[in-house]
Amino acid sequence: MDLDAIKRRCEEILKRVPDHVTVLAATKERGPEEIRAAIAAGITHIGENYVQEALAKRPRVPEPATWHMIGHLQRNKAKKALDVFDWLQTLDSLKLAERLERLLSQGGRRLPVLVEVNIGREPQKAGVLPGDLGDFLRELSRLPHLEVRGLMAIPPEPEEPEDSRPYFREMRRLFEAIGREGIPGVRMEVLSMGMSADWEVAVEEGATMIRLGTLLFGPRS
Ligand SMILES: *Cc1c(COP(=O)(O)O)cnc(C)c1O
Repeated sequence: MDLDAIKRRCEEILKRVPDHVTVLAATKERGPEEIRAAIAAGITHIGENYVQEALAKRPRVPEPATWHMIGHLQRNKAKKALDVFDWLQTLDSLKLAERLERLLSQGGRRLPVLVEVNIGREPQKAGVLPGDLGDFLRELSRLPHLEVRGLMAIPPEPEEPEDSRPYFREMRRLFEAIGREGIPGVRMEVLSMGMSADWEVAVEEGATMIRLGTLLFGPRS
């Protein structure tokens, strides 16, 4: 799509999405100009899957925006990730958390994070299993430079949007149950779920942030 078409598409989607839901533009494989067109339309949250790609692009996107890591983060990339990202949506291991905590405390900085949940219990997928989430969050609560703000999930790829509904519903239940537990330092404010194929179902089931790529920018090459 050309840049004007991207801008119009983003404006249309932003009109359709309820005000309490944040639209994050998933910008893997998109160039800086495409990202800037989305920002011109009113998008303020950008999601990238790879540290190197974000490092190359962010300096070429001068507009203010909040950049989120939405791909799996390897421990040896933690330091570089902190150079380019404002949020991490895919925290899923204590070793990564401890590495980040050490780097952040050296820099005197705090990082907002979401914990990625493997809601489909898929063996090949990243994320904390739902049954392990409570213990994981209690461990994170000891790490003062990581601010846990909510949960993120990528359910099994749906054939139809409705296929995602049970997973989204279970995520919302977990989000609320954890919130009620009142774990110190752990806030449940952001529930990041729903992509181009199933975002409307995600919103119905209580997403507070949806992550859209194809719908805003067209198909990836
Ligand atoms: C690519 C990606 C998206 C957006 O996917 P689309 O189907 O293109 O909307 C959302 N979340 C994550 C983690 C992604 O990698």
